[in-house]
Amino acid sequence: MTSTTPAPALEPLPQAVVGSLSPSRASDFKTCPLLYRFRSIDRLPETPSRDAARGTVVHAVLEHLYELPATQRTVTVAQADVDPSWQALCEAEPELLTLFDAELDAPALAAWLDSARALVANYFELEDPRRLEPESREQLVEVVIDGLRLRGYVDRLDVSPAGDIRVVDYKTGSIPREAYEAKALFQMKFYALVLWRTRGVVPRQLRLIYLADKDTLSYSPDPDELTRFERTLQAIWKAIATASLTGDFRPSPSRLCDWCSYQPLCPAKGGTPPPFPSDALASASASSASASTRPGPVEPEV
Ligand code: SF4
Repeated sequence: MTSTTPAPALEPLPQAVVGSLSPSRASDFKTCPLLYRFRSIDRLPETPSRDAARGTVVHAVLEHLYELPATQRTVTVAQADVDPSWQALCEAEPELLTLFDAELDAPALAAWLDSARALVANYFELEDPRRLEPESREQLVEVVIDGLRLRGYVDRLDVSPAGDIRVVDYKTGSIPREAYEAKALFQMKFYALVLWRTRGVVPRQLRLIYLADKDTLSYSPDPDELTRFERTLQAIWKAIATASLTGDFRPSPSRLCDWCSYQPLCPAKGGTPPPFPSDALASASASSASASTRPGPVEPEV
C-alpha cells in the first residue's frame, strides 16, 4: 500500500537573472553606447567634478533633514549640515579632496559651499519639510522581470494615507527644456515601473525638484505606458547583451561629450579605447546590479 502523506510544498524557484539595469546605466547606453562600456564594463575611473560633488552633498543634507523631528526641519539646520556632509563625503571618497587645493582654492571652496547652501535654501521655497513625513529616503527598489533585474535608489517616497505613491527626485541642475523632458522622466518611469511591479500600485505622481531653478516637473504615469516602458528596458538590455558579445559599443557624440571624462579614449575624439574585456557580458550585468544611482551626473541636466 502506498503512502498517502502529501508531498511538502515546494518553494518557488527564484527567477534566473540574465541581466541587470539601473536607470543611470540604461540612460548611459541610450546616450552613448561607448560611454556605457567605459563606465560599466571597463569600469574606468572618472574625473571628479565639483558639480557632481555638490549634488551629492545636497542630496545628503536633504536625506538627513528628514531624519529629524518635523519641528527641527528648518533652513538654518539644513544649511548647517552642508559642511559636515562635505567632510563625510571626502572621508568616504578621498579622491574628492583633489577638487580643491587646501590653500590655493580656499576661496573657491568657500564659494562652492555657499552655493550648496543656496541650493538647500531654494528647497525650502518649493516644499515645507515640516509638513511632510516621507515613507522612505534613498530607498533601494528592485524587481526581476523576465530575467532582467531592475534596481535603483529613489531619493524620496511619499505615501498618502489612501495609499497614493509619490516618487520624488532632487536635481541640482537646471530644469530641462521641453524637448529634453522625456530624458529627465526616463529615470522616474524606471522607478514607477519597479514600484508598480513590486507593490501592485502605479505611483500617482513622479516629481522632479529642480533646486537651482526653484521649479518642479511632475508627471502621472499610467499602466499602459509603463508596460511599453518595460518593453523598452528589455530592448535596451538586449542591445547591451549583443554589444557585449560583439564588442561593438559605438561612440555617439553629442554636446554631452564636453562633460565626458573619457574623451582621451574615445575614437570620436581621436582616442583609442583599451582592449575589449573578454568577460564583458558578466561585467555589464554585475555593474548594473551593484550600481548606485548616486555617482553624480557628469553631464548637465539639459
Ligand atoms: S566623448 Fe562623447 S562619444 Fe566619446 S564616449 Fe564620451 S560621450 Fe561618448
